[in-house]
Amino acid sequence: MTLDPTLVVVGASLAGAKAAEGARTAGFDGRVVLVGDERELPYERPPLSKAVLRGEAAPETTRVHDDGFYAGHDIELLMGRTVEGLDLHPDKRQVRLDGNETLPFTTAVLATGAEPRRLDIPGADLGGVHYLRDLGDAGRLGDAIRNARRVAVIGAGWIGSEVAASARQMGADVVLVDPAPVPLRRVLGDEMGEVFRRLHADNGVELRLSNGVVQLRGHGVVEQVVLRDGGIEAADVVVIGVGVTPRVELAVEAGLHVDDGIVVDDHLESSVPGVFAAGDVASARHAHYDRRLRVEHWSNALNQGLAAGANAAGGRESYTRLPYFFSDQYDLGMEYVGHGDPGDAVAVRGSLAAREFIAFWHRDGVVTAAMNVNTWDVVEDLKAIVAAGRPLDPDRLADPAVALTELA
Ligand code: FAD
Repeated sequence: MTLDPTLVVVGASLAGAKAAEGARTAGFDGRVVLVGDERELPYERPPLSKAVLRGEAAPETTRVHDDGFYAGHDIELLMGRTVEGLDLHPDKRQVRLDGNETLPFTTAVLATGAEPRRLDIPGADLGGVHYLRDLGDAGRLGDAIRNARRVAVIGAGWIGSEVAASARQMGADVVLVDPAPVPLRRVLGDEMGEVFRRLHADNGVELRLSNGVVQLRGHGVVEQVVLRDGGIEAADVVVIGVGVTPRVELAVEAGLHVDDGIVVDDHLESSVPGVFAAGDVASARHAHYDRRLRVEHWSNALNQGLAAGANAAGGRESYTRLPYFFSDQYDLGMEYVGHGDPGDAVAVRGSLAAREFIAFWHRDGVVTAAMNVNTWDVVEDLKAIVAAGRPLDPDRLADPAVALTELA
């Protein structure tokens, strides 16, 4: 007996919910099942280090779709359920669920996302040590920060920087530790990282940069952070934000090609036809950069999810969107488009001191990425400039008299 067309989406967060939506939007009228191991309806994570963490927005405001959407689009939701395995025999494709249940499928989208990298140092399992990935983490961390004497944030990447900013906004004393000399250096490089170093310093964060953490000490709960240079920082709340790793276990076990994420082509299809991947877990070939990229950002999860769902429903859409992300820290809002190398040269239009500017990363004059800081309604122009990929005079990039539209 042949199976009626059935799409199973594994992972019910942003990419997964959007994949189910994408299949329906593409006109798929078979069965759609969305399986996720969290209990909440699919939700978006960016507010978890911002308004939700600070208690300014309720968890329900983060939902990808309202309650009625799934029933309204005939999407079966299996929340609080774990997919334990994938069988990919050509004559028997199915996911294995907890409780010894199986769910046959004709096509699948894997949207299993990523999880925080754990810090393997003595004391990392003490009470008061937090990671931040899901709504439960955000609730616990928010409560802890409200009662904290001093918060230590380990890692000055995006999550660490945003948590440090929120904790300051919540009135906590904050120390931020990172091995690099400036925050966000891995993405932004030294010059732009310096903007964020000053931002945190101006907002009262104590920075311990070019330094690492070798040990956490305490009696059951954390009391001290021991730094590589011998320094000791008092802290009763520690937040570890040292990056994430893609959740590829299912894909590895099923024999899919995995290399820092599930390897997919520009249609988001994996090494097994009919099995797609999207979001933080996908390492997707990107035509503009002529290489694979694994992007850990909201807009990528949203748009790849839609595209993977449409393609799993029989479409043939190439995913060509440029990477894009945003961050909010204190009164600084920024957007970044493209994929620069932190070592690329930077041209700046506007004022770094006032923190109102556009930065262009360029290699031989070709803009690889651009970031607008407290400067709005320019991101479409910046996307066009990056997408054009032609050499430009850095002086013209920096000159506010040259319209952005002229550069695209
Ligand atoms: P995930 O959100 O990781 O979701 C994967 C889902 O799959 C999870 O629910 C997981 O539990 C489930 N799952 C995994 N394995 C299984 C299994 N075997 N069975 C069932 N379910 C499974 N990006 C920005 O661009 N800007 C921001 O300001 C920003 N802020 C962020 C703040 C925080 C605190 C965090 C954590 C992330 C932030 N991001 C931001 C990144 C953005 O949220 C992620 O890129 C996005 O969540 C990726 O979505 P995803 O659906 O691919 O993966």
